[in-house]
Amino acid sequence: MNALGGERKENSFSFPRRRRAGNQSVGLVDTHCHLHDREFFSAEEAEKMLARAHENGIEKIVCIGTNHEDSLAARDFTEAHDNVYWTYGIHPENAGESYSFIKSPKLVAIGEVGLDYHYEGYDRDAQIKLFREMLQLAKDNNLPVVFHVREAFDDFFDVVKDFPEIRGVVHSFTDSKKVLKRILEETDFYVGVNGLATYSTLPTPPLERIILETDAPFLTPVPFRGIINECAYIRNIAEWLSEKLGVDLKTIEKETTENAKRLYRI
Ligand SMILES: [Zn+2]
Repeated sequence: MNALGGERKENSFSFPRRRRAGNQSVGLVDTHCHLHDREFFSAEEAEKMLARAHENGIEKIVCIGTNHEDSLAARDFTEAHDNVYWTYGIHPENAGESYSFIKSPKLVAIGEVGLDYHYEGYDRDAQIKLFREMLQLAKDNNLPVVFHVREAFDDFFDVVKDFPEIRGVVHSFTDSKKVLKRILEETDFYVGVNGLATYSTLPTPPLERIILETDAPFLTPVPFRGIINECAYIRNIAEWLSEKLGVDLKTIEKETTENAKRLYRI
């Protein structure tokens, strides 16, 4: 039985309409999380996290697939929830696994896909082959791409230059100032800023190229380090960014939300 199938009805949840108050802020978007992954969140926990996300002004959430089965779990989760979307992707660490692309109306991107040379024993050729297949899928289906790239940016730039029409986001950017400059100058990609930025010295992209993400359950931001990450903490990342860039919170919310909606067409 599908892990979600039997429970879907009982867990069916939709965001209530946002209450409008005098100083009501714009809704935020968590552009990258793994809330559908039952290895990290029980169905019950996921519902509670959605409710807390709403209370904190998170308007839309994107659940990211990392292999075929996980992508389908993301799809099933989004079908039972308003304002939650999914992506289909095979993570580079899963290169070599079989997959067969599938769509639904709430599919908003291909991802997370890319190249990851961090762990010993990675298969560079298999990763590049898979990455090219995923980019072709995105191109054929006119979908943006969520990139996962770690210690592999030279090959990344080489591959994406063959797909000039591809739009996307470099999720969880963790590289140098020099690499960030290349992303900004050689591509139109957005850069995903998450909790990592709140406790490291990563270079910060300009606001017009930023989208916010939690990558929940990973990369919990300050001041919640040490506990499991959740979509509601997008608010804390926005607050950190406001301070870092010296830009008022409302502008941060407005710009990052517009960027996210433009990228995913949501
Ligand atoms: Zn992720």
